[in-house]
This record gives sequence, structure tokens and C-alpha cells, in this order.
Amino acid sequence: MYKRVLIKISGEQLSGKFESGIDPELVGWLAREIKEISESGTQVVLMVGGGNFVRGAQVVGHGVKRVTGDHMGMLGTVINALALTDIFEAQGVRTRCLSNIFADQVAEKFVHRLANKHLEKGRVVIAAGGTGRPYLTTDTAAVVIALELDCEVVLKATKFDGVYDKDPADNPDAKKFETLTMQQAIENRDIKVMDKAALGLAMEHKVKVVVFDLTKKGNIKNASAGKPAGTLIS
Ligand code: UDP
Repeated sequence: MYKRVLIKISGEQLSGKFESGIDPELVGWLAREIKEISESGTQVVLMVGGGNFVRGAQVVGHGVKRVTGDHMGMLGTVINALALTDIFEAQGVRTRCLSNIFADQVAEKFVHRLANKHLEKGRVVIAAGGTGRPYLTTDTAAVVIALELDCEVVLKATKFDGVYDKDPADNPDAKKFETLTMQQAIENRDIKVMDKAALGLAMEHKVKVVVFDLTKKGNIKNASAGKPAGTLIS
């Protein structure tokens, strides 16, 4: 069992059965799954994406600059984090929302020592605002925060139960990798499951990444226990 893990959930996943926004039933279920691992002693950091609201690069135009788009994207992650915080608490999970983008009215500041203190007290830390800087993604933020908080592994949730040699959505013959080296994951252009910048940082600092299907019952528990789940990239 890992002592401390970071789980990265994209905005698209949080929207569940909907086209955009947040699926509260799915988030409630997720809270119960995470409650189990948190109560068994694994400290959990959740990095939330914001693609269910805005992706910076996609809103550029008509005068909207990339930096503004990225600010909008980061604020989208705050919207997700706020919803998650309330839904998790309603499920009895002790949670704190810490933001890397200034949002004093709605979240605590992401301060390294404060995050550590919450984790040591068994609270789930929900990290909002990515890195707080434009031109980056929440995948990169996941690796940075995992390094900053000494998480032993980044559990990257996806729609599929791991990394495939081709997009499994379009290729029924796609083959799943049980394990991959970081080098392979970076060099293979068909592998788009995680940002290359994030993987590069993970390789440099030897952070393990597990790509897995979050929605499969017991998968979060297995992945946090170091048991086979999805694809291990190390
Ligand atoms: N973003 C950013 N800096 C960060 C993290 C995120 O500028 O450190 C912006 C960026 O515009 C990104 C958006 O926030 O497109 C939402 O994040 P992301 O695309 O990673 O969300 P996901 O795809 O995981 O839902």
C-alpha cells in the first residue's frame, strides 16, 4: 500500500454521463471509493482538470488571448474542485480545497506546508488551479504537485483501463501495454494518454505513473495498493 498518492482526474471524466459540467452521482461514487483508501491509511491528493469547462488553447480568438484562455481553464478547475469538495464532504470524506490560482474567497492557498499538514491529518487535498501558470496543463501540474508533496505515484485516470498501442476507441484490435518505460511512452507518438511535458518531468524525477480506469469498482483501491491496475509507466 502506498503512503501517499496523487490521483489526476480530467474534467471530461468528471462530466460522466453528461456532455459537460459535473456528474454529481459519479463524483459521489468516487468519494466513496476514495474514502475507503483514505480510511485505510493512504494519503490522497486529487488533481482536478478543467476540460469539461474550458481548455485554454480552444478558446483563443476574437481577441481572447492564450494567457486569458489558460486563466479561464484554471478557473474551470476551481469550479470542479469546489463541487468535489462539497460532494466529498457530504459523503463523509474529510477534504480541503487548495488553489494554485488566487481564489481566496473560495479556497485555501496552495502552500506546501499547509498541504502536508492536511494530508498528515488524513484529509484529502483537492488541488485546484493546476500550477497557477498559463501554457501548462493539469497533467503537468499533477507531476509537479506529486513531486512537491512526495507522492509515491501518480494515478492518472482515463476512460480506458490503461495505455494501448492505438486509440482503443477507434481500433478494436488495439493492444494494451501492462507496463511501459517512460522513454517508450514519450517516444511513441500514438500514445497520447498524458502530456509529453508531464511524462518528461516524471522521467527526469523518476515518478511512477499508473494509467487506469477510475470508474471500475475497486480499481482506485488496487492502484493505491500497488496491485495491478491499468498500465504502469516507470
Ligand atoms: N491550465 C493552465 N495551467 C495549468 C493547468 C491548466 O493554464 O497549470 C489551463 C489550460 O488552459 C488547460 C485548462 O486549464 O487547457 C484545463 O486543464 P486541462 O486541459 O489540463 O484539463 P483536463 O484535460 O485534465 O480536464
